[in-house]
Amino acid sequence: MPLRRILVVGGGVAGFSAVRELRERGYDGELTLLSPEGLPYDRPPLSKGYLLGTEDAQKIRLVPEAWYAEHGVGLVPERASALRPSEGAVELSGGRLVPADRVLLATGSTPRRLGVAGGDTALTLRTRADADALRTALAPGARVAVVGAGLIGSEVASAAVVLGAEATLIDPVVPPLVPAVGRALAERLQGMHAERGVRTSVSVPVEITDDGGRRLVRLADGSAVEADVVVAGIGVVPETSLAEKSGLAADDGILVDAAGTTSNPAVFAAGDATRLRRPDGTLARRSEHWEAAVRSGQAAAAGLLGEAPPTFGAPWFWSDRHGVHVEAVGTLDERQAPDGRTVVRFVDGVPQAAFLLAADGRLLGCAVVDLPLMVRAARRIIDRGLVPDPAALSDPSADPRKLAR
Ligand SMILES: Cc1cc2nc3c(=O)[nH]c(=O)nc-3n(C[C@H](O)[C@H](O)[C@H](O)COP(=O)(O)OP(=O)(O)OC[C@H]3O[C@@H](n4cnc5c(N)ncnc54)[C@H](O)[C@@H]3O)c2cc1C
Repeated sequence: MPLRRILVVGGGVAGFSAVRELRERGYDGELTLLSPEGLPYDRPPLSKGYLLGTEDAQKIRLVPEAWYAEHGVGLVPERASALRPSEGAVELSGGRLVPADRVLLATGSTPRRLGVAGGDTALTLRTRADADALRTALAPGARVAVVGAGLIGSEVASAAVVLGAEATLIDPVVPPLVPAVGRALAERLQGMHAERGVRTSVSVPVEITDDGGRRLVRLADGSAVEADVVVAGIGVVPETSLAEKSGLAADDGILVDAAGTTSNPAVFAAGDATRLRRPDGTLARRSEHWEAAVRSGQAAAAGLLGEAPPTFGAPWFWSDRHGVHVEAVGTLDERQAPDGRTVVRFVDGVPQAAFLLAADGRLLGCAVVDLPLMVRAARRIIDRGLVPDPAALSDPSADPRKLAR
């Protein structure tokens, strides 16, 4: 039976990328995108330019509104409440049934809540509405306690001080992000908090009390942080409820193959909500980064059409804080290279790039601060399986563009 009706559940970057890829691959049947948040927009600016007020709602849209009509995509601002694959339909929260030959779940993730007394008073940051609420709270002079000094928590603290608020980051790990960017860069980034006026507290909250708007975050080490607003940036939980309710296999993410196929052949899934089951049955770590969401949306589009998914190279992510641009490609997690080694490039005594090399000399990962050319070169080296010269990697005068040759 020809494929005539595809429904995509979730208008984040994974769902949108799938929709765009379906049209690019020539699919000309009905295409509906369920996006309860309205016109699809990008999330990374929510802790960066949008939070700072340098980018507005229009600027962060994935594409202009006219794009959907031009590409024959029906944008429906509603939630799906149940999948009915056997009936060839999806039920919307209002009760309406939308017929669909194939469904793509791109339901993303939701912030993990702080599991302590008073933890539900902490703000989280996932949607534009969350960013609007946070922006209002980050008034000059406001005291903000950010629980979790990972990527998003650090970006929020960085934006808070730019907006004139006082920020305290609370995290039990010092420095955080070592597996993501390597120890040298993680220490440099941690040091930047103090330089920019962000206080850090090495502990975990045990309780948040609220005394008429004056909050006290009590910490396990016996100390307390006084705050007008508390933000929790302690990671995300994949949104698998719809999938699980419909009997799809899930384990910290909807389980998919490289083409986004779930345990039901009529249902595909992509983005933060998913976890890759490799051909040998082992489960990959779930990704929570933008490019991975784009790629998995594109791969699922191929899967939906019965075509082979593209092969992608090493994963990449970025983060912006305290005026610097951090990027990493591949992995810097030394646990994945027990006999390997890390090489660091210093410029004027400051670490600018870190490289993880496997025991056989192949490059496994590279992280940089403000050195985009190096990440591009590292990406080529990793994807081609080249063995770089470690001395050139660490030499600040060696041109990154020549390393991949
Ligand atoms: C503040 C912030 C900053 C970030 N910064 C970076 C960064 O600098 N670099 C980087 O690499 N990554 C960053 N990320 C991560 C990146 O944005 C995510 O990995 C990406 O958005 C995931 O896309 P997604 O489409 O899978 O999920 P989402 O963007 O979460 O979209 C899922 C959508 O599905 C909808 N949905 C859920 N359930 C249903 C339902 N039942 N029916 C219909 N719709 C439903 C949701 O409303 C949501 O709109 C950031 C994320 C956040 C929140």
